[in-house]
Amino acid sequence: MDKNLFIYNTLGRKKEKFEPLKPPFVGMYVCGPTVYSETHLGHARPAITFDLLFRYLKHLDFKVRYVRNITDVGHLENDADEGEDKIEKKARVEQLEPMEVAQKYINDYHKYMEQLNVEPPNIEPRASGHIIEQQLLIVKILKNGFAYPANGSVYFDVEKYNKKYKYGKLSGRVLEELLDNTRELDGKEEKKRSFDFALWKKASPEHIMRWPSEWSDGFPGWHLECSAMSVKYLGDKFDIHGGGMDLMFPHHECEIAQNIAASGHDAVKYWVHNNMITINGQKMARSLNNFITLEELFTGKHKLLKQAYSPMTIRFFILQAHYRSTLDFSNEALQAAGKGLQRLMTAPKTLQILKPSDNSTFDIIDLEKKCYEAINDDLNSAILISHLMDGVRMINSVKDGTDKISKPDLEKLISIYKIFVEEILGLKDESDGGNNKELIGGLIKLLNDIRLKAKTTKDFTTSDQIRNELAKLGVEIKDTKEGFEWIIN
Ligand code: ZN
Repeated sequence: MDKNLFIYNTLGRKKEKFEPLKPPFVGMYVCGPTVYSETHLGHARPAITFDLLFRYLKHLDFKVRYVRNITDVGHLENDADEGEDKIEKKARVEQLEPMEVAQKYINDYHKYMEQLNVEPPNIEPRASGHIIEQQLLIVKILKNGFAYPANGSVYFDVEKYNKKYKYGKLSGRVLEELLDNTRELDGKEEKKRSFDFALWKKASPEHIMRWPSEWSDGFPGWHLECSAMSVKYLGDKFDIHGGGMDLMFPHHECEIAQNIAASGHDAVKYWVHNNMITINGQKMARSLNNFITLEELFTGKHKLLKQAYSPMTIRFFILQAHYRSTLDFSNEALQAAGKGLQRLMTAPKTLQILKPSDNSTFDIIDLEKKCYEAINDDLNSAILISHLMDGVRMINSVKDGTDKISKPDLEKLISIYKIFVEEILGLKDESDGGNNKELIGGLIKLLNDIRLKAKTTKDFTTSDQIRNELAKLGVEIKDTKEGFEWIIN
């Protein structure tokens, strides 16, 4: 099977064959959450996109070190240089310590990621735990002449950097155009040019989150933590840097500039960006009243929601679109995703009860080949799912006797669904746990009551049928003194 992954590199804007710098090791860094608000729908897409990449790289037998940071130092509103610290604002409103706010939302984020079956990264560094690394990076950039101190803060000198290296190679922005389009500074600001960005900010007297430095008591600029922490854990050249498309500019552009200004070279080989989720065609924003948290999605408690949607429905909805295409959220789209998911998840169960024949009437190897082609083509989960859906049709036609499958092909098909559905797409059956546990327990008890009643009337055909059919579904029933016990294998 061809297992060569091609990935779209935003830097250069083309699909490239994925070749790690030091195989079999792969270093992957993804910008994680800013922990000052509830985990929302916007968090789900990057988390699931890079979970898919993480899972597939492991399936290809790479040894992946996945680093996803937590932004907890408290940055300014709208990432501006002036304004209020986001965590601090929350802390004051909710009367909490700033670190309590951060921890509350970190716990929240972990809980929802687990529900979405997103595997935890190998390292989850917090910006507040890497202040020294960030300060050392500033010292390097200052020493190389690409930054300047001003009134206790330190700014990156974009114009000077642009003269030696080109600023804007990731986003395609041209500094000269930025110069034309940005307002002139009125002389009251510390920085020389409006597009210069802060590496260190002097804290105002009321600012709680602050650290001592040679420049001032202050805090690091937002872009700095990712440059410092990625290189610390993955080395000064590593394979993949990911994040949402909204981070490409200025965040990732500034990261590249910081890395090159400090070390003379870029750190990242492949830049990977997922597209955004829109809601009924609009960007999600609190000001538009269409901001939906994962808690609201899973419980249905939001005025835009017609019902609750399970974590796997959300996961499937996101995977049904290729990560670089836009994805519009609506009740209709999610209801359709719920039905699609249900259909797909019947496959592994139906496969358990199929009776093999001497030969097969369709080509399993071709299905497997198509699945790998789809995932190798820049993680095209949309096409992959459509092939798996074709497989569901085949499986159902064997079940109803229209088609046949041989024993080796049946085993192969079971393994294809296990690898692609469970291992790579990370979809899990929600019917044997979680929300439906009570329903399943109730149904098994009902069937067992009918079985016992049949036994007392000596209708052994019915009682054996119930026991045997349940066993085929993986439900084992044992009679006990108290009544009965059941386990799902
Ligand atoms: Zn970042």
